[in-house]
Amino acid sequence: PVKQRLLVVANKLPVSAVRKGADSWQLEMSVGGLVTAVLGVKGFETRWIGWPGVNVSDEVGRRALTKKLSEKRCIPVFLNEDIVHQYYNGYCNNILWPHLHYLGLQPEDRLANTRCFESQFDAYIKANEMFAAVVNEHYGEGDVVWCHDYHLMFLPKCLKMYNKNMKVGWFLHTPFPSSEIYRTLPSRSELLRSILAADLVGFHTYDYVRHFVSACTRVLGLEGTPEGVEDHGKFTHVAAFPIGIDSNRFIRALELPQVRSHIKELQERFSGRKVMLGVDRLDMIKGIPQKILAFEKFLEENPDWHNKVVLLQIAVPTRTDVPEYQKLTSQVHEIVGRINGRFGTLTAVPIHHLDRSLDFHALCALYAVTDIALVTSLRDGMNLVSYEYVACQSSKKGVLILSEFAGAAQSLGAGAILVNPWNITEMAASIAYALNMPADEREKRHQHNFTHVTTHTAQEWAETFVSELNHTIAESQSTT
Ligand code: UDP
Repeated sequence: PVKQRLLVVANKLPVSAVRKGADSWQLEMSVGGLVTAVLGVKGFETRWIGWPGVNVSDEVGRRALTKKLSEKRCIPVFLNEDIVHQYYNGYCNNILWPHLHYLGLQPEDRLANTRCFESQFDAYIKANEMFAAVVNEHYGEGDVVWCHDYHLMFLPKCLKMYNKNMKVGWFLHTPFPSSEIYRTLPSRSELLRSILAADLVGFHTYDYVRHFVSACTRVLGLEGTPEGVEDHGKFTHVAAFPIGIDSNRFIRALELPQVRSHIKELQERFSGRKVMLGVDRLDMIKGIPQKILAFEKFLEENPDWHNKVVLLQIAVPTRTDVPEYQKLTSQVHEIVGRINGRFGTLTAVPIHHLDRSLDFHALCALYAVTDIALVTSLRDGMNLVSYEYVACQSSKKGVLILSEFAGAAQSLGAGAILVNPWNITEMAASIAYALNMPADEREKRHQHNFTHVTTHTAQEWAETFVSELNHTIAESQSTT
């Protein structure tokens, strides 16, 4: 039998493409969570549709890249430089990203944005239409189309305009904010109406579902229930699908010789000291300054721990051409410098701060050897770092300190110590509590989370979403 096809549409294809000549390209597949999740969906043949991450303006180059990508089951959406600037940097990252994370409300920033808002929103719509045209061109009857994330909120509507029978699902990887925040977005109605054109709409947590449904009620005046939204007889299913990770990939990595030797190195390097770990993109939503200030307060209050504990913060550079991100970088550097100057000795400093990313094996080793992970996001759709840490802690049974504003708090809350990242005093106390936690409590908490992380995997997430989408459509066809 012919397998059903799954068209996965996301802003960026899971590849990095490097041009080697007029008509030759080199490709490398990236192996993030989404890729393994979707490849784990059984019984489907997957195609990826998205922007290849490079601007290609000549026909020869485009044709060669398209051909090369097809070997990896990828289909490119070519966007020109100006569209990428306005749609991706502008509307997606400058307007939607902060808005969805409750950070888009500074009157001054908002005012600066109002002037470019319209042209950026136009580019957003145009980009979404370009994605839709490519999807439509490759769509065949019976295919399932799964649209991903805030970059493609306008896609469901465009797709249904081509073909109202197309099976369309849309999933948001960020939070969906309270309707009181959401309703300040100028394009609030157009975006909601477009999302509602999908057959199934998914979020990480039940809170985000509630926020979305109440935004539809408040902004559009539609009838909402916990299961979805009704608009003139058309019902759109809305539900929570918490993503997971490919936990086996992490567990297996810990057995590799290079990871073992990394682990040994790190153990020697930090012997005699407890190690706390932070791994974040250097983004405002991650609460990195709050985390570091809490650690300072802990050091202030616990002189016995001086020289016996170190915070290792991996801060992966992101959106480095944006002024606010540059400002955050220097702010963090300043705080780290001050604290290291204050509590450091000739031979050791309390904070190791790295502005860089790590390869997968080095990251696994760090997850495995550290005593505490500190995730202090001010808002975070899910936060996979917390899951990855738990997956790698089978032998140490370290403690996860987790922000209640990360989606992961809904699933790992029972095993983690939950904190409000704005409350530095509470966070400092949680650090002390975690450092002194008896082994049996650590074991119990770890086991709880480990079971969750290894059973609710990325593969299970993708499979559930896709089968729910098929199911939703079968149901609506049987009732019409
Ligand atoms: N990560 C990485 N290299 C690094 C640090 C982190 O590849 O040096 C990965 C990490 O393994 C995780 C992802 O980046 O899968 C971060 O995901 P998360 O959901 O925590 O946050 P996001 O960056 O998506 O906001």
